[in-house]
Amino acid sequence: MIRLMDVYKEYDNGNKALRGVNLRIDDGEFVFLVGPSGSGKSTIIKLLTGEERSTKGRVTVNGYNLNNIRRWQIPYMRRTLGVIFQDFRLIEKKTVQENLEFVMRIIGSTKRDRRRRIPYVLDLVGLSDKADAYPNEMSGGEQQRVAIARALINNPQMIIADEPTGNLDPQRSLEIMTLLERINAMGTTLLVVTHERELVDRFSKRVVTIRDGEMVSDAQGGYWQI
Ligand code: ADP
Repeated sequence: MIRLMDVYKEYDNGNKALRGVNLRIDDGEFVFLVGPSGSGKSTIIKLLTGEERSTKGRVTVNGYNLNNIRRWQIPYMRRTLGVIFQDFRLIEKKTVQENLEFVMRIIGSTKRDRRRRIPYVLDLVGLSDKADAYPNEMSGGEQQRVAIARALINNPQMIIADEPTGNLDPQRSLEIMTLLERINAMGTTLLVVTHERELVDRFSKRVVTIRDGEMVSDAQGGYWQI
């Protein structure tokens, strides 16, 4: 579960990115976070991943209070989250299999864990035949599916996707969003930041709209409200 309670964020240069945001996302939800450029969406994600701290207000992520979290606890908090970016961020010199092994090793998995989990997750994202491919041998849509596999591989409670379809054509975007919807249906909480109005309207999920650092709408089964 995620909670932001009356959260303010002012950057060192005086930019006020968030002004009193309240947001609660329960386990199992699928939420779109939308809003114009500069409205504070990335700032919310950075607060949730522990990359930035709020200036005022409380931030809680999957049982961790990020206001007084210890530095050594941050990696444990991050393990509860899988993060997906617009630009995929795969390791280019590693195959799909090696990209996945790498993030499983970080958490001290056994070879047996990896042998079981990697084929399962590759099958889930529809890439069973690409384990030995390198990222630059794959299409954008396939690379994003690898990134989704990587986000899922350590079985996080929640996936945060920052403009996951920003680099893809409409057909691929639809496929990626459908895949994220399926992953949510299997129990993982999903927070998806997006600019893509048509997709948001099509999926009929909870839509949280932010503008100038303030939440201006929060609608279940909602439509783009800007
Ligand atoms: P969005 O993701 O919706 O485009 P951001 O969260 O990136 O919005 O930005 C919100 C506001 O905070 C903007 O005015 C932006 O210029 C400012 N901002 C973002 N990051 C920083 C930073 N590191 N330092 C100073 N200001 C920042």
